Amino acid sequence: MAMQDARHSLVQNASVDLKTLSVSALYDLVAPCVVPSGSPSARFANWSRTFHCTPLVVFEPCDVEQCRLIFELAQREQRTVRIVGAGLSPSDLACTSDFMLRTSKLNKLRVVDPEKHFVVCDGGIKLEDLERELATHNLALRNLGSISMQAMGGVITTATHGTGIEFKVLGDDVLSLSLLLADGTLVYCSRHENQDLFKATLCGLGSTGLVISVQIRVEPAFQLREAQVTRPFDEILANLDDIVHQAQHVRLWWYPQNKSVRVCSANRTTAIEPEHSEPSFKSFQPAFLTHHLVEFFLFLARIWPVLAYYIARYVAWMESAPKVVVGESGSILRADCRFAQHTTEWAIPYEHAQTCLIQLRDWLETEPYSENGTYPNFPIELRFSAPDDIWLSPAYGRRTCWIGIIQFKPYGLPVRYQELFRRFEAIMSSYDGRPHWAKPHHLGPHQLRRLYPHFDDFVAVLERVDPMGMFRNENVRRHIFGERGPAIDPRLFKQHKGASDSSFYA
Ligand SMILES: Cc1cc2nc3c(=O)[nH]c(=O)nc-3n(C[C@H](O)[C@H](O)[C@H](O)COP(=O)(O)OP(=O)(O)OC[C@H]3O[C@@H](n4cnc5c(N)ncnc54)[C@H](O)[C@@H]3O)c2cc1C
Repeated sequence: MAMQDARHSLVQNASVDLKTLSVSALYDLVAPCVVPSGSPSARFANWSRTFHCTPLVVFEPCDVEQCRLIFELAQREQRTVRIVGAGLSPSDLACTSDFMLRTSKLNKLRVVDPEKHFVVCDGGIKLEDLERELATHNLALRNLGSISMQAMGGVITTATHGTGIEFKVLGDDVLSLSLLLADGTLVYCSRHENQDLFKATLCGLGSTGLVISVQIRVEPAFQLREAQVTRPFDEILANLDDIVHQAQHVRLWWYPQNKSVRVCSANRTTAIEPEHSEPSFKSFQPAFLTHHLVEFFLFLARIWPVLAYYIARYVAWMESAPKVVVGESGSILRADCRFAQHTTEWAIPYEHAQTCLIQLRDWLETEPYSENGTYPNFPIELRFSAPDDIWLSPAYGRRTCWIGIIQFKPYGLPVRYQELFRRFEAIMSSYDGRPHWAKPHHLGPHQLRRLYPHFDDFVAVLERVDPMGMFRNENVRRHIFGERGPAIDPRLFKQHKGASDSSFYA
């Protein structure tokens, strides 16, 4: 299908002038897409259940017209609207106490062009559904993060990334998109048309408008061959640049607890090759048993923190046999995200990676014994990406090493993490680190302006397309606009019923 058709399917025009409708008529018209207040979807909790909210109203529209009605109603009632994809963000990015718009029914694949290697899909489609449909056309996304449960809109507006020093964040594959603005206008934008809006919307945190549809580059379906080996940390450190460049997709799991790194290096392959791993005693341990054992011991580590250290060593040992896995791209690029977790991730300039890792190693060796110190219960994840030109992408203009830390929450229970993350943040900041927007951090406009050359351009676009701030939730007001006060406190959406994270571990 020609590019012109793709453009047409991205933009359809409004027919009715909504300004002529009364507020009560608007309420009647949006009623079919209001989630009943008794439904579980009328409340919101993110995937890790670390942030919760009860929006005033939750809408689940099926088409652009319904979205337009919701925006018109929000304007008349002076309400904000938070757009939600799959609700995975490990922060309050998707939270609101005002109107919430779930995109779960805006989830179609619209156009497939196998010759020009692009597709057009709705912003609410989940990557896993898109991948399944692409496979039937013998196509695939070029890269993925650790999971495919996210919605396309959530992926591109947070600069979600995978790994590969020659690969940019996933949103860089977007060729064009259509956006429903606060005033109900549907706008087409790309690198050639409405460029500013395009570069602000990719990694725009849902604050420029609702991504209705996305034209995205794909490639013929491919297989990856991934080699996994465990090596001493010092060896990896000394040869980091070679290791990062040894394959198209290199991911490192660093176990500071036993000073080792699991290196996962994946390349495209056409060879038909069986999976193999070095046979050992460990191969006989069923994965589910390890999973349950680890979770149980992580639970005990809430009482005897030093156990976390030994569990991490056990997991590192369990996973240490060399292994080769061959499979379709998605199955190799994704990772096993086992447990609910607290997490934060920072993007530092690739050139600083070695020095930064040395500092992290020295800190982690002393962390458990310091005041309010914590035994980390995680491996640290290191990934890599190429520079891009998306205004607020943490990889904007620089080769990037992404460093993520995790504290698993066994059985979803609270664990200590705040002081640990604060110290991690301080180290990342000292290397000009930029935080992953979907994950919690403490930066405000003063620091962000220094880190992002187009920060003020971004704010200018928001002021232009959404002068009333309809798409600004508490997270955006706090980090982008530097607002303070009880209504936008960072812990606003963290309250639990029963055992409270905040009172116990703050
Ligand atoms: C287990 C796990 C693994 C993860 N792995 C990775 C990883 O490997 N790499 C990585 O970079 N990140 C990773 N993340 C983070 C994740 O990719 C982001 O949080 C992503 O935004 C989640 O997508 P979502 O659809 O759930 O978005 P949500 O959490 O629902 O929303 C996130 C943001 O997207 C906006 N948004 C969503 N849809 C639209 C739309 N249609 N139009 C406009 N704005 C929209 C929302 O307003 C909000 O600002 C992971 C998260 C988890 C929980």
